[in-house]
Amino acid sequence: MAINILIVDDSTVMRAMILKSLRMTGLDIGETHQASNGEEGLDTLEGNWIDLVIVDINMPVMNGEEMIDRMKQNPETADVPIVVISTEGSESRLDKLRQKGAAFIHKPFTPEIIRDTMRKMLGLASEDA
Ligand SMILES: [Mg+2]
Repeated sequence: MAINILIVDDSTVMRAMILKSLRMTGLDIGETHQASNGEEGLDTLEGNWIDLVIVDINMPVMNGEEMIDRMKQNPETADVPIVVISTEGSESRLDKLRQKGAAFIHKPFTPEIIRDTMRKMLGLASEDA
């Protein structure tokens, strides 16, 4: 099953780095979509089948926390797995995200960390197959 992914980050460079890392994971990546803030991310979720969302925290217009809250409030997006990739260092803020069911990856990251986190969130076997 190809995994359709939405990348939400206000940095074009960071989105490109995440995309490149995704292609290095060896996972079966399907469609990839990009959005530069939470509001655009929610719009993209409305019109597309997304299997996993990768989201930054600090963004203009709508930050990652608010986007996650809005996803959880909508039955159609409440169960979409979420991986937060951020430089955020505040443990209380990270705890709040984990309580919402999101996984967290600290910047800088490696393709291996992204792969392992995605497998965990999507319930995929850990073998390279
Ligand atoms: Mg940012």
